[in-house]
Amino acid sequence: MQELSHYIDGARVAGASGRLAEVFNPATGEVQAQVPLASTDEVNRAVEIAAAAQPGWAATNPQRRARVLMKFVALLNRDMDKLAEALSREHGKTLPDAAGDVQRGLEVVEFCIGAPHHLKGEFTDSAGPGIDMYSMRQPLGVTAGITPFNFPAMIPMWMFAPAIACGNAFILKPSERDPSVPIMLAELMEEAGLPKGVLQVVNGDKEAVDAILHHPVIQSIGFVGSTPIAQYIYGTGCANGKRVQCFGGAKNHMIVMPDADMDQAADALVGSGYGAAGERCMAISVAVPVGDQTADRLVEKLIPRIEKLKVGPYTAGNDVDYGPVVTAAAKEKILGLVQSGVDQGAELVVDGRDFQLQGYEDGFFVGPHLFDRVTKDMDIYTQEIFGPVLSTVRAQSYDEALSLAMDHEYGNGTAIFTRDGDTARDFAQRINIGMVGVNVPIPVPLAYHTFGGWKKSMFGDLNQHGPDAFRFYTRTKTVTARWPSGIKEGGEFSIPVME
Ligand code: NAD
Repeated sequence: MQELSHYIDGARVAGASGRLAEVFNPATGEVQAQVPLASTDEVNRAVEIAAAAQPGWAATNPQRRARVLMKFVALLNRDMDKLAEALSREHGKTLPDAAGDVQRGLEVVEFCIGAPHHLKGEFTDSAGPGIDMYSMRQPLGVTAGITPFNFPAMIPMWMFAPAIACGNAFILKPSERDPSVPIMLAELMEEAGLPKGVLQVVNGDKEAVDAILHHPVIQSIGFVGSTPIAQYIYGTGCANGKRVQCFGGAKNHMIVMPDADMDQAADALVGSGYGAAGERCMAISVAVPVGDQTADRLVEKLIPRIEKLKVGPYTAGNDVDYGPVVTAAAKEKILGLVQSGVDQGAELVVDGRDFQLQGYEDGFFVGPHLFDRVTKDMDIYTQEIFGPVLSTVRAQSYDEALSLAMDHEYGNGTAIFTRDGDTARDFAQRINIGMVGVNVPIPVPLAYHTFGGWKKSMFGDLNQHGPDAFRFYTRTKTVTARWPSGIKEGGEFSIPVME
């Protein structure tokens, strides 16, 4: 059995805790490797190495730091196929989707190549007589990130690219479900010229996370994952005086107005609801057609599209629509929620419960499901399912549809499909959700904008990537400087006021 490693001080290092977790091939259900789960001592060692490496890296000028990222982009492109294959093998998503996972991370790296510009700071000439004032953005020191299984390339890059561009050292604790790609990324960063110890990968579970949360040297923590863990990490990290940003779960609604292009809306729902087996925090999991006629037309168009979906392993070629879910436990949870939907009275109009894939009977495949007439009190509506299950909640008016999305505890993404600019504009203005699509089902902002939800989908002040990342990974220091001239005239005893 292959035993994976950590990546510490520029080398693959075997685990020393004696604790291991199984890494599955979700398509076959086989255990393909074991990943070491770090002890507190192993995390502490990584922090010590990071703390020693960080000052030298911070003293490397921003342009040289950016050149490392520039080279890293070239290496990501060189190894794209290899990375996508390793990612699909552990996660289960299709190869084109895995390449997209790498690509969306790569775009954040490209944005971070602009670090010299983003870190320039501010300067006021002659803020007072003979006085200049300037603000610098300085790195925090040792920073850390804890990432989920569903984007094992993109989300680590969202975090470590800006952290490192700003002159920090970064310790990544990736998901124990698909740990190979994060290690490959760290190796590529070093091949690109990053000094040893600036980026390290420590695999682990709660013990490693708690060691990060309580380590006094670690200055900031980024987290992406489920909401209960996000709340735990935000609360504990803040109580320990760290800067923390945590991104949680989602339940994304797509409002379909009666005037929408119904074919376009149905295509959008199928792609965004079932792509990556629904394991995306920006997946649409709730369709909200406005009016019964709209609902009937929409459901009629959805059924044949959903029944045609091709579910298969990533090795079956590029026309597979989605692959297995990540673990047997995830499959069981999804099917349990589907059953609760049936028991609580929703109409299961596409039933994927008996789905079997010949030759892959032990794989974690889940057939596509479509529910109609879902109501607000049902578990399939209140909970994040994170599987290929789309729920239709019928609304009788635009205001009812808007309220549904607004009243839900999650606020990651949402979309409206309409031909009416006034309705779309009203929706974008009033909705209390962080990312909004107008005739766009998965409105994931590009790297130079910021990514983040509202309500229970995000804890903290600053978003991922875009300009916020440079704020999150730096501290502002403001210097007020007066060079000898006035000082020779003697001391001043009242508070200085600029005239
Ligand atoms: P998860 O919360 O189970 O795990 C995320 C990370 O936390 C992993 O590294 C894991 O090892 C660690 N962890 C798990 N349990 C822990 C515990 N008890 N104490 C400390 N650390 C713990 O999430 P997941 O299943 O890997 O990812 C899916 C979830 O992530 C979904 O809820 C999805 O919506 C969310 N997600 C959110 C975003 C976003 O930007 N809002 C993006 C991607 C995924």
